[in-house]
Amino acid sequence: MTIESIESFRGRARTWLAENMPRTAGREPAPIIEDDSHEWQWARELQKKLYAGGFAGICFPKEYGGLGLTPAHQQAFNEESEGYEMPLLLNSPTFSICAPTLLDMGSEEQKRERIGAAIRGEEIMCQFLSEPGGGSDLAGVRTRADRDGDHFVLNGAKIWSTSAYAADWGLCLARTDWDVPKHHGLTMFLVSTRAPGVTINRIRMVNGNREFCEEFFDNVRLPLSAVVGEVGDGWRVASQQLYHERTAMGGGSPYTSGTGHPAMMPGATPVEVATALGRTADPRVREMVGEYLALNEVAEQTSARVTRAIEAGDLPPTAASLLRLLHAEASHVKHDLAVEVAGAAVATGVGNDEGIQGRAAIGFLMRQSASLGGGSDEMSRNVVSERVLGMPREPAPDRGVPFKQVRNGR
Ligand SMILES: Cc1cc2nc3c(=O)[nH]c(=O)nc-3n(C[C@H](O)[C@H](O)[C@H](O)COP(=O)(O)OP(=O)(O)OC[C@H]3O[C@@H](n4cnc5c(N)ncnc54)[C@H](O)[C@@H]3O)c2cc1C
Repeated sequence: MTIESIESFRGRARTWLAENMPRTAGREPAPIIEDDSHEWQWARELQKKLYAGGFAGICFPKEYGGLGLTPAHQQAFNEESEGYEMPLLLNSPTFSICAPTLLDMGSEEQKRERIGAAIRGEEIMCQFLSEPGGGSDLAGVRTRADRDGDHFVLNGAKIWSTSAYAADWGLCLARTDWDVPKHHGLTMFLVSTRAPGVTINRIRMVNGNREFCEEFFDNVRLPLSAVVGEVGDGWRVASQQLYHERTAMGGGSPYTSGTGHPAMMPGATPVEVATALGRTADPRVREMVGEYLALNEVAEQTSARVTRAIEAGDLPPTAASLLRLLHAEASHVKHDLAVEVAGAAVATGVGNDEGIQGRAAIGFLMRQSASLGGGSDEMSRNVVSERVLGMPREPAPDRGVPFKQVRNGR
């Protein structure tokens, strides 16, 4: 069957967007502080509009509610959608991480029901991976799921779950076997955030933002159909999930729709700051803006090149860590230079444009998040050295040891 040409798709998207989607009209991203339920409701409504118009889930297969088109179609749609309101809040983790993980590893039922509902704007997903004892050693999770007849019973705690308070389902990595080495005793579950025994609390960050959550699972009963992949094969599912997360963070996911950041990641580029403060003629500012633009271009081109190489099998999927690292580097340079261009007033928010300086300041406070989300920079470097370059693995005293015998400092 032939698929629609990019140009025809682009033309239809342009007409449809103009007739159906609201213009952004310069709406500034606002940090998520208290009740932001209207933002999530709005994102769901926008997604429903995309679905009704036939422009949702562009790269997801038709049998699971998508359009079955190519990344080039998605790219064309993204370009046309600039200047329009888009459900950006749903891009991550729902569309770029959770849905593709289900697509690769989930059961037919999970794919049909969860991916379909997300594309229709009815459901949102989140990730329950990191734990209070540490997120870097993901294979060392201590949240447990014990078999009880035709159910598992989930107990434990998770943390740093992005937008879990707004989600309907979470992908939760838990230990189902304590007698085998740590990577072998894990299982991934699809957990309803409203199941009895699930408690979700929001966490307030340094910028007042409350996108993160902590969760407690107390005897949460999960049917066998909640298992994603196979029992005991959770590390393979988690690895695929991390691959999608690192690809998404590096800007290479074909499953996100629209451009720009959702409200939860405010900040300002050096270009925006220089323009707003009338500093574009200053030679030193021009130098800094040039440095930012050059690095941005290199990051975009490299991201496209590495993504293509992974797709073609020329690089292993673990090379997505390169995208993730590059994103962190580019993000640091962006926020550091935005602060330098904004000048000293960034610290106090005074000057001729408080808004832009405030945004630069918040972006700077949050710059470190790019070095932690999807695994820290240090862990990404480990992956690149061990899994892409084939260098020796770092020593691990718990390798090959049954997990219940692993010493635990807590
Ligand atoms: C924006 C953002 C979004 C996130 N979203 C989610 C989410 O939706 N769901 C979720 O489950 N988690 C989420 N996280 C959590 C994230 O996955 C963890 O922060 C990350 O894995 C690091 O874990 P940690 O914070 O517990 O640090 P730790 O693991 O305690 O590490 C602390 C420091 O020690 C270093 N370190 C640890 N081990 C080694 C080693 N072997 N070699 C070298 N250095 C090491 C780390 O690099 C780090 O600098 C998010 C984080 C951010 C910033």
